[in-house]
Amino acid sequence: MSPISTLVLATRNAKKVPELRAILGEAGLDIEVRGLDGYPDAPEVAETEPTFTGNALLKARAIAAHTGLPAVADDSGLRVDALNGMPGVLSARWSGRFGARSGDRDAANLELVLDQLADTPPQRRGAEFVCAAALALPDGEEHVVEGVLRGSLATEPRGANGFGYDPIFVPEGQDRTTAEMSPEEKNAISHRGVAFRALAGRIRELG
Ligand code: IMP
Repeated sequence: MSPISTLVLATRNAKKVPELRAILGEAGLDIEVRGLDGYPDAPEVAETEPTFTGNALLKARAIAAHTGLPAVADDSGLRVDALNGMPGVLSARWSGRFGARSGDRDAANLELVLDQLADTPPQRRGAEFVCAAALALPDGEEHVVEGVLRGSLATEPRGANGFGYDPIFVPEGQDRTTAEMSPEEKNAISHRGVAFRALAGRIRELG
């Protein structure tokens, strides 16, 4: 049994709510998961921390304080070995103002990483997707976990599923990019799936 009956996921991304709901259900937890749709005045929290865990905690804390309910938040990104772990927490904004102006920020971010790795041979194209998931309880108790998916970067985009860097990310042991996988296949191995499942384990241990 968990002492939590309802929690708020600090996201306006409609796809993340059913994903967390399914993972908590598979872990045998009977918890109502709400998105931010019912909280139009919830604060927009700037991701100002240098780490994924720091940003996930910032968001979870702010939403727990605003709603008075336990809150979960995630922060994720791509770490590229040949770029010393960048774009990291800057993944969503890697192409800067140019990407914002181009109208397709995800495509601009991906093109920039491909250009930066133009001379990097296959054996040095290692990368990982990372996701930190944080739980903040209204009484101040906090938990944070991380999920990682190792892989390597292709030399050109392939596949139409997913988002962000999916068209160039090939998970270890696979030959398809995560954009060539179904959402179910990707969720089974993804950094976000790993982090949410680890968080479900923590929630089960509460109380
Ligand atoms: P956030 O967690 O919503 O801040 O996402 C950060 C950024 O990391 C996204 O905009 C993507 O560029 C990248 N990213 C995070 N997870 C994934 C993924 O599963 N596939 C592709 N890109 C991702």
